[in-house]
Amino acid sequence: MGMFDDILGKAKDVADVAGKKTGEFVETSKLKFQCVQINNEIKALYEKLGSAVYSMAKSGYENPELVKSIVDEISELLQKLNETSEKIADIKNVSICTCCGAKNSTESYYCSKCGNKISSEFSKEYEDMASKAEEHSPENDEGKDI
Ligand SMILES: [Zn+2]
Repeated sequence: MGMFDDILGKAKDVADVAGKKTGEFVETSKLKFQCVQINNEIKALYEKLGSAVYSMAKSGYENPELVKSIVDEISELLQKLNETSEKIADIKNVSICTCCGAKNSTESYYCSKCGNKISSEFSKEYEDMASKAEEHSPENDEGKDI
């Protein structure tokens, strides 16, 4: 009976780990949505730039400041898009400290900046659980009361 309670306890822990993974997924989805929004903004600016250039060519009136401002806006957004894509890649390989926001390797147990316990602690627990679950494999439980 004790062992069964133990398994139930572990199952709850596994659910907690799954919760963390879900949070990660939500964060990635949010960033992907941001990428789409930035892409749309860039598209709109290209259109704006095109129509500005058209008007200038048509009227013969030069407005280099307007062109430069649109070009700068596009460059800024492209940079933002780059950073957002990097963030998405980072989430897969990096644990962000919940305390100070510093990036740590998923191998780390504690934040390199503030020493806070980081979420990769959960993956260690998950590994422990996996090895414990192996001990309780059906073969080993044969002939025992559960
Ligand atoms: Zn930290």
